[in-house]
Amino acid sequence: MRKQTLINLIAVVICFLTTQMKAQESWIDESIHDGLIELDTEYSFKTLVSNDSIKNTTETLKNINNAKLYFDKIFQTDLEFAVMFIENKEWNTYAYFPPPGLPQAGNGNVILGLDKSIVSIEVEKMIHQLPVQYLSKLKSVYGEKIDLDLFYRETLSIHELAHLYHFKEGTEPQRKWLQEVFATMSMYAFIKNKCNSCYDLMNTYPEFTIQSGDKMAEFKTLKDFEEKYVQKLSPQNYEWFQMQFYKNAKSILDLKGDGIVTKLRNFLIETDLSKTDKLSDTELKTRLEKEVGKEIANILNNWNYK
Ligand SMILES: [Zn+2]
Repeated sequence: MRKQTLINLIAVVICFLTTQMKAQESWIDESIHDGLIELDTEYSFKTLVSNDSIKNTTETLKNINNAKLYFDKIFQTDLEFAVMFIENKEWNTYAYFPPPGLPQAGNGNVILGLDKSIVSIEVEKMIHQLPVQYLSKLKSVYGEKIDLDLFYRETLSIHELAHLYHFKEGTEPQRKWLQEVFATMSMYAFIKNKCNSCYDLMNTYPEFTIQSGDKMAEFKTLKDFEEKYVQKLSPQNYEWFQMQFYKNAKSILDLKGDGIVTKLRNFLIETDLSKTDKLSDTELKTRLEKEVGKEIANILNNWNYK
């Protein structure tokens, strides 16, 4: 074999091997794992903590694993991800964005608080100033001290995990509100079907805030949500939107069953903004009605603030 031919052949082989290696590379962003301690667990996903002397992860991990089994089944995949538990004081070193302790997900990581989240501390303070008659339901579900991490960490960790099942496809959604409704619907479907003991933890605090009305929200249209999203809305205003999505997700799933969750995920992937033009609200309604169900399209029709 001539020398040049041999060199060409070697180059082709190296190129092939690199492509193969890339295909097997994990999608998990491990650059933020440095310095964390890996916990030994019985689960298939990696668990990392910023401090292994704080032992409050057992129940959360069990629920996350059950949610993984459920989501893997309905979305027909075996999703690879890592769970990170980070103390508030270390939050800014490891998490993608504040506030400390509030669950977030991205690039294959679910990031959760290891001590009480700042949001829970703030909201609990406000709630304890209310007249006692408003608190009895919350106390019966979240305990005498009203531990809202039972909502903010235990429930929202499932919402965040659900996001990864869509993020993995690397697509950009037509609307951020649809992406949020998808995560909340997936969470609701899992808890309603597979985690009876989690249902009240998921449902009681949202019902409480929905009953307290719209006063906390300066911005209320879906267009506001698209334009401002997390960064430009106050935490209360952002939460107000999420609670409206919860209300919608709950009534749709109670009515239609969980088949709609898979349809919505397919829709998010198929209408990826990097490959499809941005749909107008009218086009979006028509396609949602046809491809996912008229109930989803009705979120747009029935939104109270236009
Ligand atoms: Zn979300």
